[in-house]
This record gives sequence, C-alpha cells and structure tokens, in this order.
Amino acid sequence: MTVKAPGTPATKIDKTPVGTPTTKIDKTPVATPGGNRPREEKIMVTVRLRPLNKKEQSSKDHVAWECIDDHTIVYKPSLRERAAQQGSFTFDKVFGPDSLTESVYEDGVKNVALSALMGINATIFAYGQTSSGKTYTMRGITEKAVNDIFTHIMNTPERDFRIKISGLEIYNENVRDLLNSESGRNLKLLDDPEKGTVVEKLVEEAANDDQHLRHLINICDSQRQVGETALNDTSSRSHQIIRLTIESTLRENSGTVRSYVASLNFVDLAGSERASQTNADGARLREGCHINLSLMTLTTVIRKLSVGKRSGHVPVPRLEAHTHIAAFTRRKCTDCHHMHIESSIKSC
Ligand code: ADP
Ligand code: MG
Repeated sequence: MTVKAPGTPATKIDKTPVGTPTTKIDKTPVATPGGNRPREEKIMVTVRLRPLNKKEQSSKDHVAWECIDDHTIVYKPSLRERAAQQGSFTFDKVFGPDSLTESVYEDGVKNVALSALMGINATIFAYGQTSSGKTYTMRGITEKAVNDIFTHIMNTPERDFRIKISGLEIYNENVRDLLNSESGRNLKLLDDPEKGTVVEKLVEEAANDDQHLRHLINICDSQRQVGETALNDTSSRSHQIIRLTIESTLRENSGTVRSYVASLNFVDLAGSERASQTNADGARLREGCHINLSLMTLTTVIRKLSVGKRSGHVPVPRLEAHTHIAAFTRRKCTDCHHMHIESSIKSC
C-alpha cells in the first residue's frame, strides 16, 4: 500500500479549528492534508462545504467555515466565542457551498475511481458530521463513476469486462448484506490469507449492464438503516460499503491473456455526532455511541496504515466489527480518495 499520512486527521477540524494559522501553513505544508507532498502520494483529501438548509437559514445560523482559495478553508468563530481564534487548514482541494457534485467528482475522485479499470484497487471515503452531506455527495459521485466506467467499457471493445457488486452496512457493530436480506444481521468477518478480510456469505451479484448496476446500487441504498435526528430527518445510522469488482481480459494475438482485476469501494460512513446536537436518546443515542467509537477506531487504523511501515500488518482490534471497514477496504488498496464533508455551520 503506497499511502502517506494525511497530516491532520479530518476529525481534528471540528475539535481544534484554531490549530493551524494560515501563516504557518506555507512554512510547514506537511502539517495539514494537501500541500506540497511527494508525487508517490496516494491518499487525496478534499473537503466540501454544503450550503445552509432552510432550517439553518431561517434560524440565521452562523456560517463558520469559508473557502478562501482552492485549497484552504478558514474557521470563523462567532461573536459568542470570541475566545476561539480563526484558523485555516489546507487540503488537496476544497469545495465551497455553491460547488457542484460534478466538480467534486472531476477534481480528484474520477481518477481514483477509474484506476480500478486498470487493475488498481481504490477506495473513496466520505467522512464528516451527521447532516454534513456525505450521503448526498457519495450518491452523486457513485452515479458519475458508474457512467464513466460504462463509457470506458464501450470505448474499449478489445477487452472483455465483468463487473460484480456487493453491498454491506455495519450497524451497531453488526454486518448486514444489503443485497440479501435473508442472510441475517450479523455476518461473520473472516481473515483469508489470500483475500484479506472477507465477509462470510456476502452476496456478489454480476451486473449485466449499467442499468442493472444502478438498480443494484439503489437496492443497497434503500436497504440501509436510517433514522431521524435533530440534525437530519433521514440520517444514515450505519456505515455503508458498496464494492465493485471490475475484471477485464484482453486476448492478444499471441494467444496470451492479459487480465486486470481490482475493487472499487464507495464508503459512506455514518456521521460523527454529539448527542447534545442530535438530541439523541434511547436507540439513537446507542447508535451514536457505536458510530463515534467506530469512527475513532477507524481514524487510528487509517493513521497507522498511512505512517511508517506501510507493507506490514496493522493490528485491528478483533472485537469491533466497525474497525473492519478499514481492513476490508485496505486490501491491496493502492489509491484512495478521502472526502471530508462539512456543513458550513459550526459543529459544537
Ligand atoms: P449526511 O449523510 O452527512 O448525514 P446528507 O447527505 O443526508 O448528510 O445531507 C443532509 C441534507 O443536506 C440532505 O437533505 C441533503 O439533501 C442536503 N445536502 C447535502 N449536501 C448538499 C449540497 N451540496 N447541496 C444541497 N443540499 C445538500
Ligand atoms: Mg448519510
């Protein structure tokens, strides 16, 4: 795995928005994601701010984040928090509230997604607070990636392509197959010496064409666990992984067969949240605790994967199913796009 550390984990932005003053960024670009990193870098981190929704507009919520150029977002404390300082953070790319999903896709995601057609495993993550727009953005970019994959297939008649899809969600520590509701709510995770982490009995469906693939993705979306919170009427309460396995073969004149196989993971995480903000209690609160715990563990796993020894084994705590999002998607992952999604209002 040839990945490098995104210097400042996305989680830090909520908690320590005053961390990196702009003046320091130029001098120490490695302190924040993006900046002048070496060319072998394979993790790309982008941020998208969503526009205020009607509720936020009508309650005149304070807009706490602003994009000041293509790479920098600035935190602007409200008058009430004069103690907090303005701080700025750099990323590979940042997208303001008026940005289109098309631009988010074109400026980074597209190359990562299409690398799977050349046999390079790739993962696209969306990470951020509940209601910051992760699912909205992931749906858009998945749709665009599917369009581009099938355009490539049409334009490459010399190769035979086969696409398979699997979909799972991790909800309250349990893994569920989104394409097979019969298989129960607690599928086992197994370590396979060849394949890495696999989910036992997870259904993989072959997609006949683009319409069929879209249909299967829609089934995954509709099967996913959602619930109402104060921040989002249909908040995703589970982590979702949609995996496309793309295989292609080319028969050469000499009779030899050149084949590629790679997986492309679309990971839409459940949002990090504060119970005080989501007004959660009962089941919602329990979900929220599982979600936060798993995101914290995921951060640790990603950080360990991306610094120091990259080819070695990264111990993953066995007891938590959530931590296997990282194990499941890291399998020979050679290209990764990590989108951090933010609502432009302050998270407090
Ligand atoms: P999350 O998955 O992070 O909890 P959602 O994707 O469900 O958040 O988005 C929350 C709400 O905000 C939804 O109603 C969604 O349609 C809206 N939304 C999110 N991003 C945007 C955007 N870029 N432009 C317009 N509306 C958005
Ligand atoms: Mg969501």
